[in-house]
Amino acid sequence: MSLDTEKAAISLEFFPPRDLAAQERLVRTAKQLLAVQPRYVSVTFGAGGSTRDGTSGTVRTLRNLGCDAAPHLSCIGASRDELRQILQGYRDEGVRRVVALRGDLPSGMGGDAGELRYAADLVAFIRAEFGDAFHVEVAAYPEMHPQAESPSADLRHFADKVAAGADSAITQYFFNADAYFDFLDRTQALGVSVPIVPGIMPITNNTQLTRFSQMCGAEIPRWIRLRLAEFGDDKASLRAFGVDVVSELCQTLLDNGAPGLHFYTLNSADAPLAIWRQLGLERAAA
Ligand code: FAD
Repeated sequence: MSLDTEKAAISLEFFPPRDLAAQERLVRTAKQLLAVQPRYVSVTFGAGGSTRDGTSGTVRTLRNLGCDAAPHLSCIGASRDELRQILQGYRDEGVRRVVALRGDLPSGMGGDAGELRYAADLVAFIRAEFGDAFHVEVAAYPEMHPQAESPSADLRHFADKVAAGADSAITQYFFNADAYFDFLDRTQALGVSVPIVPGIMPITNNTQLTRFSQMCGAEIPRWIRLRLAEFGDDKASLRAFGVDVVSELCQTLLDNGAPGLHFYTLNSADAPLAIWRQLGLERAAA
């Protein structure tokens, strides 16, 4: 396999560490993964503000390592004032990219949905209040967002986010490349032309992957599901299989015009590094 490193813009996603030990692990992981010279890294945000300080602190840590770091920000459960304050803080620190989301309120956080209903409203708010201060990324769902009324309604809602001012998009993860290319065709038919970068989930843990996929509506194809189940406790074989499957997926995506790859690292370096080695991404193989 080989990867055209000029064309492939790699980005990486991290989540805010929960304690000091996890923070130290994150810095070690990030230093290893920076070998791939990502275009940017992003840091998730707990909808409802649960990781507000963790997200901004992690963005600062990663920026201090020399990365262009983009905080995720979700509008659900938040007021305009809170969102304005968070964004002002980022702009004043020199952050130039944000991932704008609706988010999902964690169960038990009450029913206050906040002042902005959908991610498109947050994008419009960012543009109205901050002009072009930020490059705005939004989420896309090739296999449809689980709460959408239909694939076409979801597609229209995605186009609304772009019309509101999003510069580019990152997809929910998927294992079926056809779903991504079908989504690209449908967005182009609607006149949407921003880059839509596939989100890549490494396969390292069957139970965790099954749980995530049930929550976010990503389909694990039957043949992958059956192979993962058969590995049982044989973690080494499961991981090797996961690296093969995900590397093949990445290569197919890039060979057919995906503008880059966004890796959900889960704050761990092993799987992304193994995938990059398999892809022949020399700058990461050292
Ligand atoms: P939206 O684009 O607002 O869409 C949400 C749903 O509403 C969709 O079903 C859409 O079809 C529907 N919809 C949109 N507009 C309308 C309308 N006008 N009328 C009717 N229906 C409408 N979650 C976090 O909590 N923190 C994170 O950091 C985070 N990062 C993510 C990063 C990526 C790349 C992705 C793909 C997801 C991420 N998520 C994160 C998950 C995301 O918050 C959830 O998927 C959430 O349910 C939807 O967020 P959204 O921004 O896609 O919402």
